[in-house]
Amino acid sequence: MKYSELAMVYESLESTTKRLEKTWIISRFLKKTSIDDLPPIILLLQGRVFPTWDESKIGVAARMVLKAVNVASGISVEKIESEWKKIGDIGKVAEKLIDKKKQKTLFSQELSVSKVFNNLRKLPELEGQGSVDQKVQLIAELLTSSTPIEARYIIRTVLEDLRVGVADGTIRDAIVWAFFEKDINLNYDEKEKSINPESREKYNEYSEAVQSAYNVCNDFSAVAEAVKKSGLEGLGKIKLRTGKPIKVMLYQKATGIENAFERVGKPAALEFKYDGFRIQAHKKSGKIILYTRRLEEVTKQFPDVLECVKNNVRADEFIIDSEAVGFDQKTGKYLPFQSISQRIKRKHNIDEMAQKFPVELNVFDIVSYNGKNMMKEPYLKRRDILEKMIKQEPKKILLAKQIITDDLKKAEKFYKQSLDAGEEGIMVKKLDGIYKPGSRVGFGVKVKPVMETLDLVIVGAEWGTGKRSGWLSSFILACRDTDTGEFLEIGRVGTGIKELEGSGVTFEQLTEMLKPLITEEKGRIVKIKPRIIIEINYEEIQKSPTYSSGYALRFPRLVKLRDDKGADEASEIDFVEDLYYNQKK
Ligand code: AMP
Repeated sequence: MKYSELAMVYESLESTTKRLEKTWIISRFLKKTSIDDLPPIILLLQGRVFPTWDESKIGVAARMVLKAVNVASGISVEKIESEWKKIGDIGKVAEKLIDKKKQKTLFSQELSVSKVFNNLRKLPELEGQGSVDQKVQLIAELLTSSTPIEARYIIRTVLEDLRVGVADGTIRDAIVWAFFEKDINLNYDEKEKSINPESREKYNEYSEAVQSAYNVCNDFSAVAEAVKKSGLEGLGKIKLRTGKPIKVMLYQKATGIENAFERVGKPAALEFKYDGFRIQAHKKSGKIILYTRRLEEVTKQFPDVLECVKNNVRADEFIIDSEAVGFDQKTGKYLPFQSISQRIKRKHNIDEMAQKFPVELNVFDIVSYNGKNMMKEPYLKRRDILEKMIKQEPKKILLAKQIITDDLKKAEKFYKQSLDAGEEGIMVKKLDGIYKPGSRVGFGVKVKPVMETLDLVIVGAEWGTGKRSGWLSSFILACRDTDTGEFLEIGRVGTGIKELEGSGVTFEQLTEMLKPLITEEKGRIVKIKPRIIIEINYEEIQKSPTYSSGYALRFPRLVKLRDDKGADEASEIDFVEDLYYNQKK
């Protein structure tokens, strides 16, 4: 397929904010895509070239892209940079500059989807001496053959910032609309941009099947391929694979214990909510692999955890879900997440770190057991299996502390016990709840005492002046709209002493983290790829026309960096709205 066809689809997607319209556009496109082109097309529509479970990232910074535009267009880097400052989006800069060049070269080849896909996939493989030039060449080669509009999307894909607003749910729906059109009686009204009730009714069953297949493989390209080949039957063949990371189940917040009971039913399983970080441990063919909740492999960073999973978890093959919690070696007391978070990214002196910051693994769920997918089994049964397979050993590996009760008094006592032990609160789980990756599910909720903070993603910043020049002096924060996958601005946090106090991060460190993520520069304001999540405290949420979310924060303060969370786990706009109305009460 020609890349120009995909670029046209991107353009139509960019021109609308309506989710159903986007779904329609994508579904028509998928329908006519050949089976060979389908996997790359699905990934490229999501602005990626690797599925989520794959740790490979394109990982190219704005500077390198400017260089590639320079090589492809012959225009000086200074000129390109000044255009960048004016226009902002490098994609649009390339579009403008490539246009000028095109009048001169008539012999460039028409780009194919696979050419673009393959070149981009080669980028992370290049390492070491000379790799920067090779990467620039790979991108420039594409730009040389591209039309201006193609250049816009190639650049944005390279920068992993496509901006056409396609959320996971849209891709899932588009797959259903494209390949089960007849089964759901799809009837899309192009004028009204809506579908008839009958399609909606029948849609659920198919949507659920597509979603379940996605939940076990984390890759819509594999799902679409299976559906195109053999429909529902194809979906059934997608199996959970031990060794490949999965998206974990998330829990919503309840306003209190009573509310938690209301939401999951009585009796419920109450557990300590440990303040550590999540580890999913896989074992297959004698090999153990550890992943974070963001599907990053951390086996090397945690030789201690590896050892106790090896010795204390008795089964040949499994995927278990757990929280690793730090503790003080002298007092034995649990420590908050910050104290061990440095272990996650650590590449050197790993054994020393393991000695200095030991962790205890608290196991709370099992997703796969001896080759059998446990996701659809009731929670109590899963817990039962865990109890049989784990040899508990304090300060090494334990089952999450649990009681089963329908009694409010007992629940409150347990809650207090957890807080006294230095934990964050409790989880309240539905006894027959299934394991469903992702959020918005009622199979478990968390209860925490503190005023609700927000996990916001940094989407922009401002360069400082005077003493602060060369440093980013304030950050623009956003929450997430799950329906569209877009980030909605909600405020700014300064980098003064008050705002960063106690967060353990300095504005210098934040600047260094954010610099490679800059995608646009306009005057002193920069746009930043939504990657870094920070937890924010505030005095009050206010309605505000200034920000795209419609809300603003009074006196925001940085609590801590949430480097265990990805942008797709930023607080949702619905949640902000709830908080707003609750505080008014
Ligand atoms: P939060 O990070 O505030 O959204 O809370 C949810 C997180 O709490 C989960 O992702 C786990 O990492 C962690 N957690 C701690 N203890 C438990 C438990 N017993 N069951 C489930 N999750 C837990």
